[in-house]
Amino acid sequence: RAKGDGRNRLRLYDTALHQQLLEDRAIEQALRRALTNGGLRLVYQPQFAASDPTRLVGVEALLRWQDPELETISPERFISIAERSDLITELGWRVQALLCTDLQQWLTAGLEPPVISFNVSPKAFRDGQFSSQLEEIMSQHGILPGQLQVEFTESTLAGHSDLVLDEIDKLHASGIELSIDDFGTGYSCLINLKRLPLAELKIDKSFVDGLGENEHDEAIARATLYMAEAFGLRTVAEGVETQQQLAWLQAHGCDRIQGFLLARPLEADDFRSMLQRAKRTS
Ligand code: C2E
Ligand code: MG
Ligand code: MG
Ligand code: MG
Repeated sequence: RAKGDGRNRLRLYDTALHQQLLEDRAIEQALRRALTNGGLRLVYQPQFAASDPTRLVGVEALLRWQDPELETISPERFISIAERSDLITELGWRVQALLCTDLQQWLTAGLEPPVISFNVSPKAFRDGQFSSQLEEIMSQHGILPGQLQVEFTESTLAGHSDLVLDEIDKLHASGIELSIDDFGTGYSCLINLKRLPLAELKIDKSFVDGLGENEHDEAIARATLYMAEAFGLRTVAEGVETQQQLAWLQAHGCDRIQGFLLARPLEADDFRSMLQRAKRTS
């Protein structure tokens, strides 16, 4: 009996795993189609000055995908599927092209967007082509390096040092700013603060969540803010949802606030309207 149970459980597990594999493969194929037929777009989440949360000081571009036949799939899900195949490289280029296209339109319209951050997958730096490819896309759209910032996580640095560090140095040399995303959640290594030409640290939402309530989250946030100050880096808190978190971050000297409390990620047209309003009131 016990034996039979075990076998059934194994079969159940097998079926679930198999189902997952089939689903992943279907998503991968649909994503491949989206790269030719469309369905990928960027949304833009504003960042505000902690000292004056009405002042727009930055923005993060975030990828969205809607397939006509599938239900909406979260970026976490489809990006991790893309990362397991060869798709992530092409997806990364697409993000850059979409970003430069939007940015070019805003600049042509006389708007004054802040520096725009975009996310780069850990794999992207490893082929040694990233910075030259980005420069080419930027020049096609007349975008200057000072208008962009690259966000990457610490896992990007694990185990692939030379190629990756070269790419990072090249980006920095070209004038693109560098930000460490989800700081403190990955394979953290404080020497990164010393050896990388960084402009910014982002405090992960998982720590922001506990501000004003959880002393361990507060200790991590405080330590991050302290180190950032010592190294001359800007700080951004992501996933700020409550007034209490905002007040804590203001009291502890965080520079920038990103989160649903102040703004959700906006469709390109809505972000454009925000830029227009910002221009009229400045
Ligand atoms: P991330 O770079 O850490 O982006 C922040 C995520 O937090 C975004 O989720 C954003 O919508 C969400 N967020 C911001 N404020 C709040 C808040 O107050 N409350 C809550 N609950 N969430 C908030 P999103 O857009 O789903 O992206 C998830 C992750 O997917 C990103 O995390 C990033 O790692 C990845 N990603 C998104 N776009 C791209 C891309 O173009 N390329 C790559 N390689 N990765 C991307
Ligand atoms: Mg990010
Ligand atoms: Mg983040
Ligand atoms: Mg995060």
